This record gives sequence, structure tokens and C-alpha cells, in this order.
Amino acid sequence: MEKQQNKRNFSKSRRDGASIFAIIFALLFIAMGVRGFMGAGTVPTSAMLPNGINTTQTKPVELSFSDVLRRGKDIQTMTIHGTDATGTMKDGTKYTATITYDPELLSKLAANGTSISIDASKGTMEYLGTWFPIIISLLFLWWLFRGMRGGAGGITRGLAQQNPTKITTGKPKTTFADVAGIDSEKQELMEVVDFLKNKEKFTAVGARVPRGVLLSGEPGTGKTLLARAIAGEANVPFFAASGSDFSGIIVGLGVAKIKEIFEMAKRNAPCILFIDEIDAIGQRRSTGSYNDQDREQTLNQLLIEMDGFANDTGIIVIGATNRPDMLDSALLRPGRFDRQVYIELPDLAGRRAILDLYAKKIKVGDDVNIQDVARGTTGFSGADLENLLNEAALHAVRNGRTAIAHADIEEARDKILMGPRKTRKMRPEDIKLTAYHEAGHAFVSQMYSDITDPIHKATIVPRGRALGMVQHLPIDDKVSMTIAEVRANLSIALAGRSAEEVFFGADKITTGAESDIAMATRLARYSITTAGLSPRVGLAAINQITNFGRSSALESASEKTAELVDNEIKAWLDTAHADATKLLVKNKKVVERLANELLTRETLTGDEIREIICGKKATAKKAAKPRAKKNAK
Ligand code: ADP
Ligand code: ZN
Repeated sequence: MEKQQNKRNFSKSRRDGASIFAIIFALLFIAMGVRGFMGAGTVPTSAMLPNGINTTQTKPVELSFSDVLRRGKDIQTMTIHGTDATGTMKDGTKYTATITYDPELLSKLAANGTSISIDASKGTMEYLGTWFPIIISLLFLWWLFRGMRGGAGGITRGLAQQNPTKITTGKPKTTFADVAGIDSEKQELMEVVDFLKNKEKFTAVGARVPRGVLLSGEPGTGKTLLARAIAGEANVPFFAASGSDFSGIIVGLGVAKIKEIFEMAKRNAPCILFIDEIDAIGQRRSTGSYNDQDREQTLNQLLIEMDGFANDTGIIVIGATNRPDMLDSALLRPGRFDRQVYIELPDLAGRRAILDLYAKKIKVGDDVNIQDVARGTTGFSGADLENLLNEAALHAVRNGRTAIAHADIEEARDKILMGPRKTRKMRPEDIKLTAYHEAGHAFVSQMYSDITDPIHKATIVPRGRALGMVQHLPIDDKVSMTIAEVRANLSIALAGRSAEEVFFGADKITTGAESDIAMATRLARYSITTAGLSPRVGLAAINQITNFGRSSALESASEKTAELVDNEIKAWLDTAHADATKLLVKNKKVVERLANELLTRETLTGDEIREIICGKKATAKKAAKPRAKKNAK
């Protein structure tokens, strides 16, 4: 019943929109029609040229441009208006033609005795053509101005109703079972579901009921999904809009739209009103620019609506943002978005759960180890994981498989992380150098496998900007590193460059180590200036990354300290580089073998690498210190 009412509302507003378009179209048609008529009218005008023949009955012949060129001698008069030419032939027939305005042609015609006149006057329609855009702009400005004065009145309101499609609605079938890996967040939101289902229970004891829930977290962590699931669990309608829909060039539109969706929500209560990207309206008030003024009005309207709920309305507003720090604090006051749930990127267990959920929906082959996939996807959001399995499924289909194989997941993951495979042709010497570079990373990495993450694979297949790479597979999610790990990782990172020097000579080194060097520098700087790992620099935090990604001095570091830091970073990097070089020089033979295997096979798995280095079958976990160390000699 209520739903129907809703539908009617939608179609009505759509009609409003349609009528505006109809008017615009009608105007265009009239303009075109008048123009066409005027165009046709030029023929009779020129037909009145004095030529002594009754012309009203003879229709002018149409000459092509080549006819004009060919029959130039036969043409008596020609009146040129732009590219239109009209006139009479020497035998009295009238003609029309389209010509290119060419001085040479004209002089040729004149030489033949044609009398030529050029009509440079403008038709009324052409005047209108010049004025039309100006008039339209003026009308538009007037419109904007009206919007500003009248707030949500008049046309802005009509416009607000024009885009009902942006508001998605319906009772979602999504439930909490469709959301995996974020159990504590689900638990927290159970109460909201409970309230929507048993409003009376809450109001009977006079409990203050939730009105607004703010879900924050990185994109793709499942905020929208969770909001839908709440509606689904409570079996109430779900209205969704995006904060960015509320801002536009038309002032007052945002306010009108806010009023509109809240009206709709009230008619359908209990329900969930979901506003994605709420930071687009709820940003902290700041600069006072023109755009800000509009947003502020919109934000105020949102606050008014939320404050205006009676205690038992049964509307829960769920906002989602990935920049909670940017929100105006007014939004977070009691009675507004007073419940805040932060959704983290999923940890290892979470990723496992999400992968399991989606793996159930597709065919996954026996050689796929979901736990390993979860391990190799640190930093992936729920959406990324879903996308990973999708890409893998596509890859499987392209390769004629009926179930996803390990190779499909590898390909999909590399594609997501590094970009698609490059088919770029590389010179053989570049490929060779890349193979040694990657072999260097892989070898040194294996030398430190007792304290660092095991190698997952090494490859010389170019992807994105990388010519090759060595990947590691963490055993579990790491939250910190020991100083030994940091030093080891620096060596591993710089081992590519070391290999270039050891096997090709210092004059052959390439820019290919660019990202290795950037990564190593970042890690060293962080360890020294932020994590207090350098005894020489000490425990003082010297730099801190602010929210806005700008780096600013926390303690104003003296010039002396800054110099000390620079020297210390250089010292750490030099030590790591020397260490890697030493390891490679000592084990030239093995590294060479590794590089050659890479050249022939392009990609080596962690196990294959361990086998080449350690000489026998070894698995990731068992390839620990003793054997690796022995081979290091
Ligand atoms: P957000 O709103 O945080 O940007 P979405 O809710 O739109 O993220 O997530 C996009 C998609 O990713 C979802 O539709 C769902 O398919 C998948 N997804 C994200 N997180 C999860 C999760 N925790 N469990 C299951 N699927 C998820
Ligand atoms: Zn490298």
C-alpha cells in the first residue's frame, strides 16, 4: 500500500521532468523550423531578380559545385550568401548551388562575364542565433538566482524531484549471513535491527533509541552491504542516496532533495535511510566559498530533519564515509550520528571468511588453498576479494577450465596488484638483467627466511611499471617488525641493484631499482624518525604524517638533527646494500642458476626457488634457518 503511494510519487515527478524536457524540445523544434523556413525563403527572394522571365512556375535547378565549375560560361548572375549561391543561367533558368567560397572561382566566373554579388547581410534567424545562447544564459542565471532566494522553492524543487532514480529503494533480501569477516561490527548493529523490529519494547522503557549510525572505513569494506543487511534483517524498506547527489551547481537543490528523501522515509517508516559518502555534505565547515554555502545549507537541513524525528518514528539514518575525520562535529552530536562503527580492512581471519563466502558461490578447484589466498591478500578489502575471485573465474573461463585453478588466482591477484600483463617487447639484454635483478632479491630473501616472510614467487613477466618482481607471502598479519627484520628487508630490497653490480658491473646499473630504492628509503626513514630504532638518533619522533598526507615537523628538528637523520638513513642503506652484495658475491653460482631458471621459465614459485637454492625439496615453513644458512656459505 505504502509502496504504491511511493510509486505514484515517482511517476509524477518523472512527468514533471519530462515536461521540462518537452518544453526544451519544443523550443528547439520551433527554432529549427523557423530556420528551415527562412532558408527555403531565400530562393523566392533571389527568384525576384530581374530576368524578364516568369519565374514563379519554374523551380530553380540545383547545380552541384562541379556543375558550377563546368558551366561557368553559362551563368549570368550569381548572388552568394555564405556557401549558398543563387542566380540565373544565360538561358534564363534559375539555379541554386552550394559552393565553396573561393576567390579563384569567383575571378574565373567574372572573367566569363557572370555578374556576381555577395550578400553579406544577416537573416533574422542568424541574429537570433547569436542572441539565443545569451538569452538562454540570462534565463539560467535568473533561475539560479531564484533558487538562491527562494531556497527550496519553485524550480529547484521540481528538479529535486526529477532524479528519483538516484534514490534506490525496496526491501533488500541481504542479511547478515551475506556479510563475512566483520563479526564484531555485526554484533554492534544487531541492536539497531532489534530496535526496528521491536520498537515498542524500546519506547516502553523510555530508552533513547538510535537515530543515526555512522559507518566509516575504507572503500569496499562493506558499509553499504552492512546497511542493506540491517534493513534485510529487520525486514524494512531501504532508501539509499549518495552525499554527492546533494551538491550541484544549482543552489538549493541539496536542501530540496534532503526534504524529499526524508518525506519519503517518513511515509515508509520504519525504514533505513542510507546516505553514502556523507562527507560530501557533512564536511567540516571551512572556507566559506560559494560551493560551501550551499553545502552548509544542505547539512543544516539534514540536521534539522534528524533533530525533528519523534522518538519513535522508526527511521534510522545510516551514513557511510571513508573520511570520518573530515566530518563536521555537529553531525556526531547525540541524537544524530551518535553511534559510530569503524570497519577495518579485514584481517587474515576476516579475509578467509570473506573468501570462503564467495568461494561457495563459484567452482573452485582442488589445487586452490583459500588460506594461502587469504595470506597473500593483506590490505585487500571485501570488495577487492570478491573482485579477485571474479577475475580468477574469468581467467579460468578464458583458459577453458570449468573450475578456478591456483594459476587463475595468481593471475588475478597480480593483475589487481600490479596491473595487467605487459606484452611490451623487451631487448634480450634487458630481460637478462631483470632476471639477475630478481634472482638477487630472491636469493637474499631466502638467506633471511628465518626472520622475514617466505618468498611466494619470483617472475620476470612485466606488469604495470614493474619489469619483474619477487613476492612474499606473510604467514599472518603483521603489526610490527623487529629491528633485525627491518635491516633484513632493507637488504632484500637493495639486492636487485646489488645483483646488477655484481653480475654486470657498476657501469651497467639501471634505473630499474627505482621503486626498490624508494621503498627502502621510506622504511629506513620511518624506522629512524618515527619508530625510534636508531640509537644514534634516539627516541624522539621527528616527523609525523598528518591526516592530510602532508609531512610536518612534530618537534621542530634542529638542523643538526636533520643532518644526523640524513646520515643515519644513508648509513643504514649503505650497510644493507653492502650486506646484499656480499651475500651475492659469495654465492654467485647459485644466483646464476636462479637467474637462468627465471630466464627459461619466467616465473618460479617459492618452493622452486627454495629447491634451487637449498638443493632439495623444501616447503615454505620448513625452509627455515639451518638449511638456508648452510647454503649461504
Ligand atoms: P563500501 O560501501 O564500504 O564502499 P560495499 O558495501 O559497497 O563497500 O562493498 C562492495 C561489495 O564488496 C559488496 O557488495 C560485497 O559484495 C563485497 N563485500 C565487501 N565487504 C564484504 C564483507 N565483509 N563480506 C562480504 N562481502 C563484502
Ligand atoms: Zn627490484
